[in-house]
Amino acid sequence: MAEKPDCGILTSEAGDLQALNRPAENAELWDFVRSWLRRFQKTDGDKAAERFVCLWAAVMAWAAKAAPDLRRTRDGMYLEHCLARDQKLAERFANLYKIDKDFRRKIEHFIAAAPVLLFAWLQRNAVGDWDPGQDRRAYIMKAFEKEPPDGTFAPACGRGHLQAGEKIPADWAHVFSMIAQVRRNLFHGGKNYKTSGERQFLEPAMAILWEVWRFELPSGILLSRVSWLRALLRSGFLAQEVDNRISLAEETEANRKYLQKLLAAGQFGTLKNNILLLDEPYVEESYWLRAVDSTHGGAEGGSADDLAIMDTYMAGLVRWLNKVGIGTELSCDGHGLKKPSFIAIDEESARLAAWLLNFRVPQFTQSGKTVKYAGAGPNPNAAKPAERLRRMLDAAEWLAKNRDDLKVMVAAMRRVSAPKTPPKPEPVPAREQGVKPKS
Ligand SMILES: [Zn+2]
Repeated sequence: MAEKPDCGILTSEAGDLQALNRPAENAELWDFVRSWLRRFQKTDGDKAAERFVCLWAAVMAWAAKAAPDLRRTRDGMYLEHCLARDQKLAERFANLYKIDKDFRRKIEHFIAAAPVLLFAWLQRNAVGDWDPGQDRRAYIMKAFEKEPPDGTFAPACGRGHLQAGEKIPADWAHVFSMIAQVRRNLFHGGKNYKTSGERQFLEPAMAILWEVWRFELPSGILLSRVSWLRALLRSGFLAQEVDNRISLAEETEANRKYLQKLLAAGQFGTLKNNILLLDEPYVEESYWLRAVDSTHGGAEGGSADDLAIMDTYMAGLVRWLNKVGIGTELSCDGHGLKKPSFIAIDEESARLAAWLLNFRVPQFTQSGKTVKYAGAGPNPNAAKPAERLRRMLDAAEWLAKNRDDLKVMVAAMRRVSAPKTPPKPEPVPAREQGVKPKS
């Protein structure tokens, strides 16, 4: 008999909980979390199991402070269900799924392999290990013939979904239950787990948990959290602080519309009467940039005032260059593959742009009308793509903040380099002026 999927069992232990109580001021907790995260981030890439344990410890410590029933904070299943039920995590998951292509791909891949089987059960029942080269669905069906009891596969409603011919829903509760199962395998899988097919899920499970949960961290731990004004300037928006609020009154109509779209995509807030109304004063910059990445158009040419068509990491730099008097024709942030570059309207503008951008640190090269990011420091080519892209945002911010002074400078430089009006013929020295040689 086909069972009906009962998704409620994923969160039943959480009772009527809607959302966890976010522990805000809790120095002890954040110190503890920080120490685990340091190990999570430092441990090198191939030690996935160790990293997962560190991340899990941090998340569970947080959950224990955030769960309402203090008598049950040592009950792992209770905490897992509370995490799976939490509305904020669920919303964030849904948002990332909507705006971030990579995240969505990761989730779809992960879900397609569901359910995650308890490795200890697989071993006891001689089901055999899953070979990642093999069809996962066929393997799962074979495993289900052995009638695995509740708790040996996740999500717990997974069998019901499959028997009903449905896909496992791509939501936080289902995905989190799989993540928790991956963690259980890690603790109870023993030595053989090291080579197991189920181990394939370790990396994606860890990445998803980190992506969704890390926004809970206070800004001291998460360094990329920036004020909204900075985020907007770095992305090229003509934003200003007026009476402690951010105004976009100076911005073009088209860019205000585009910003409105970005704010909606990331559920950040809204723009009303040119004033930004935000849910939070700070934003995790990578999250903001992902919203930009999924919303902007593809053209690399066009007017430098049109932010909606420019590359995510180049929009700010190009916009501010134009604002200080250096026109551009094309720009490309390299999409993580190539070096970011842009083409100025003429060679002199390109020279001026390189001169300005190299003012603090020499990092751009110019050739003809093209200006390219070349890297900085003793080994310029070693800069990782993410680092290069961050530099473009830093350069944009510097230009934005100094734009009034830089505009004056650029104008002065143009005057200095402009060819003078043709010089009057120099007066011929008297000596040569037909002074008759003495005869
Ligand atoms: Zn379900």
